[in-house]
Amino acid sequence: MMNCQQATRLISESQERPLSFSEKVTLKMHLMMCSGCKNFSLQIPFLSQAMKAYAKGLNEGHDGTRQGEHPES
Ligand SMILES: [Zn+2]
Repeated sequence: MMNCQQATRLISESQERPLSFSEKVTLKMHLMMCSGCKNFSLQIPFLSQAMKAYAKGLNEGHDGTRQGEHPES
């Protein structure tokens, strides 16, 4: 049986590479029994999305283009 450390590592790696079938199965079984790792797996997509949005925001900031957020000016 997979432990929590292995499970969270697999969850992280799944963001960078496709997991094998047996990895997915063992991970899924662990997530069904372990709410801690399940919460972690739910947060990972959100975190990577937030990081992308943050990086995108930085890039757009360098553009110098305004999105019309200040109607008064
Ligand atoms: Zn766990």
